[in-house]
Amino acid sequence: MIPENTVRVLDHGFVRLDDAMASDLSVVNAARVSFARRKDEMDESDEGLIRFLMRDRHGTPFEHNSFRFHIRSPIFVAREWMRHRVGSFNEFSMRYAKATDDFYVPEADDVRSQVGKPGAYSFEQVSPELAEQTREELRAVYDHAYETYERLVEAGVARELARSVMPVGAYTEFFWTINARSLMNFVSLRAAETAQREIRRYAEACETFLAEKMPVTHAAFVAAGRTAP
Ligand SMILES: Cc1cc2nc3c(=O)[nH]c(=O)nc-3n(C[C@H](O)[C@H](O)[C@H](O)COP(=O)(O)OP(=O)(O)OC[C@H]3O[C@@H](n4cnc5c(N)ncnc54)[C@H](O)[C@@H]3O)c2cc1C
Repeated sequence: MIPENTVRVLDHGFVRLDDAMASDLSVVNAARVSFARRKDEMDESDEGLIRFLMRDRHGTPFEHNSFRFHIRSPIFVAREWMRHRVGSFNEFSMRYAKATDDFYVPEADDVRSQVGKPGAYSFEQVSPELAEQTREELRAVYDHAYETYERLVEAGVARELARSVMPVGAYTEFFWTINARSLMNFVSLRAAETAQREIRRYAEACETFLAEKMPVTHAAFVAAGRTAP
């Protein structure tokens, strides 16, 4: 069963909205406080105001809200994610808890080649044979790594050291709390064609929650070419 407010991503991952304090009205009221005015309900002029703020890149009224996500992703996705400094993170610790034996094995369609120069790569699906070989080789490495990890821990080696054998395809979990302005910056960069396919799927999942909680803001973001204000 899929828990509420959860989007499944990749083979063992998810994005779950743990909680949110987020509405389009918060943007409007943050902007209107400049004129000592406040609204209890959105109307058409407020929607226009949000579009204006987005278009003219008045970003701060989009900061008075909060999304708290619980995410499960491969370590290499989390590594890219945590480059986004404006937001708060807490992550699962392989010092304190045993590592998971869930590892990312891409679907055959997602096994791709990489051609061209940095910044202008193109990705093409490989042959079915190479896709299957890749998946098998990944599984073999994961099995060997996890067996070694368990053997070392069993023999008395500290988890904080034994984890060195874990590949970046292993899954991790973290909490991420962020405001809409920074979330739009993340989505703008990571749901883009230029981002790695795996993190793109996570960014798309996060974007569904932005659209659900702040539909006018999200529509204005899309209309403004998906550039964060
Ligand atoms: C396709 C792609 C490829 C990438 N490749 C690499 C790579 O090869 N190597 C690498 O190291 N990183 C790489 N990155 C990460 C990238 O450099 C950023 O660290 C990451 O995208 C976070 O973006 P950000 O700084 O806008 O977000 P945040 O860190 O969340 O910052 C949000 C905004 O706050 C402001 N801000 C935050 N910190 C500062 C600061 N110190 N000074 C001034 N303004 C600040 C900026 O306006 C920034 O846009 C890549 C990112 C993408 C999307």
